[in-house]
Amino acid sequence: MAEKGGISVQTEHIFPIIKRWLYSDKEIFLRELVSNAADAETKLKHLVAVGQATGIQGDYRIDVTVDKDEKTIVVEDNGIGMTEDEVKQYINQIALSGALDFIQKYENASADGIIGHFGLGFYSAFMVAHTVEFHTRSYTNADAVHWACNEDGEYEMAPSEKETRGTKIILHVSDDETEFLEGARLKGILEKYCGFLSFPIFFTDKSAKPAEGEDEVAPEQINDVEPLWQKMQNDCTEEEYNAFYHKVFNDPLDPLFQIHLNADYPLNFKGILYFPRLGNEYRSLEGEVKLFYNRVFVSDNIKEVLPEYLLMLKGVLDCPELPLNVSRSYLQNSEYISKISAHIVKKVCDKLSGLYNTDLEKYRSFWDDIKIFVEYGCIKDKKFYDRMKDIVLFKNTDGDYLTLSEYRKAEGAKEGKVYYATDLTQQSVYVKLYKDQGIPVLLLDQLIDSQFINIIELHEQNLTFQRIDSVTDEISKEDAGEEAEGLKALFADACGKEGMNVKQTALKDASLPAILNITEQSRRMQEMAEIYGMRDVHIPPEEILVLNTENSIIKKLAEHRDGDKAKAIARQIYLLAVLNQRQFTAEELASFLEGSYGILDQLQ
Ligand code: ADP
Repeated sequence: MAEKGGISVQTEHIFPIIKRWLYSDKEIFLRELVSNAADAETKLKHLVAVGQATGIQGDYRIDVTVDKDEKTIVVEDNGIGMTEDEVKQYINQIALSGALDFIQKYENASADGIIGHFGLGFYSAFMVAHTVEFHTRSYTNADAVHWACNEDGEYEMAPSEKETRGTKIILHVSDDETEFLEGARLKGILEKYCGFLSFPIFFTDKSAKPAEGEDEVAPEQINDVEPLWQKMQNDCTEEEYNAFYHKVFNDPLDPLFQIHLNADYPLNFKGILYFPRLGNEYRSLEGEVKLFYNRVFVSDNIKEVLPEYLLMLKGVLDCPELPLNVSRSYLQNSEYISKISAHIVKKVCDKLSGLYNTDLEKYRSFWDDIKIFVEYGCIKDKKFYDRMKDIVLFKNTDGDYLTLSEYRKAEGAKEGKVYYATDLTQQSVYVKLYKDQGIPVLLLDQLIDSQFINIIELHEQNLTFQRIDSVTDEISKEDAGEEAEGLKALFADACGKEGMNVKQTALKDASLPAILNITEQSRRMQEMAEIYGMRDVHIPPEEILVLNTENSIIKKLAEHRDGDKAKAIARQIYLLAVLNQRQFTAEELASFLEGSYGILDQLQ
């Protein structure tokens, strides 16, 4: 005789909440049912292993079948099954404590903040079904039970004809949830959440066309029962890591390298993190960390587990320790999450120093791809800086990669100074001046470099970075010679700049009449203002016109410094110095052209 009942008083409250629960995320019903099925298989497997269940064949599998015509979704397992008493205890009383807890906590909470698992898994089927029924037979071979319940929470229990072990759940899909009857949609959900469960999961779409020569649609296995992160690092090949990356992140490019995580107690999590190849700069720098809970997909993009400078990483993390019935704000403030994050940072540093020490060639080859993140990390996190500083690479003006200490020890390097260029073309004159003196020069040509060198100077005592166009210390003769009187006034007058900063120096290279220096300090201030978008703050960089007392034109000019001709020459010298330093203003360009035409005219 069928037994009837109502699923306890509380269910009247629970059902509407379940319907509303994670409204935007209804698809997780399938995750819940398939996870239950996998749990049922795990339990049975365990009983077999400890000898408490005998005569069981190890053909564990889960089948998910969708039938558009019947409007049903069936989830079937051959796991532990349930006896009548167990159905009463586990299903009818819906783990009441869990349910009540759920109501108290979340009835008024916004569903978006909830990412998890409430011990209400089975009933989440009612998010998409008006009626749910199942047939179940316990592994103990007790009589099979049929159970059915409508959306008002009224259930019926009766004996079932089911002969095989396990549970077969049938969802009668509501008319307004028919999207879940679409084969592709359902398969997509299964792949997303259950792609890595340990038991084979087969999917069948009854309304799909059978393969040639077949009468029925064949079930298709959708999961990989041994996800790579569960394996030991030594058992994984480079090809496997790459293939896993392509599949999970849909990225056609190979990653640069990966870090296989396997943290023991108390963190207890596994995972693989990939440094993506950035390719061209138009690719998004945004990474993605997929979070799994015992192989079941929980959420995309758990930004909280990575410091912001590592957000471009892509990877999977399986954290069975993580309490999943928590909100995002919990994740943000969780000590456990910050420990995971610290662990990851340490592993990233270990991996990079390992590569630096064992495969420098490879390390150098992808330095350009990781440089920005490493420098950004150093700027943001002193601990990261301390771990990385000895293996941060710099490029010199010849295109070689070297560490800061290698630069400092290089032949020709000056104690306490790092000379650098930011633009090989624009600063080619200065680059040549330094090269002629055998002084090594680094090329720091990215926006982040200027912030990065500020950080190095902050942490390293007695070390200054100096752009090669900011001082003349290394390229001048020790004996500066005598300053010619009146030259300063001539240039200020010729350029129409009263109070112009003019200096006279004997440059080692006599061929240049003048160079235009920009002080390091003022240029950095200007760069800062640009980086922080302070457009209104216009800080003109401080320019110094350096006249070369060794140069023959300057020498002659010192002797004949009166008249229009001297003025025209001075102006042209100034403009040539500007040309070697920065872009002309429109006015300067017009003046330069006019001066040049005048010279050609005189040559005729
Ligand atoms: P939870 O899985 O979080 O305990 P559920 O509401 O999903 O909560 O399930 C309640 C209980 O019902 C489970 O703990 C399990 O004992 C039982 N159960 C659910 N689905 C199955 C199944 N497919 N096979 C065997 N037992 C099941």
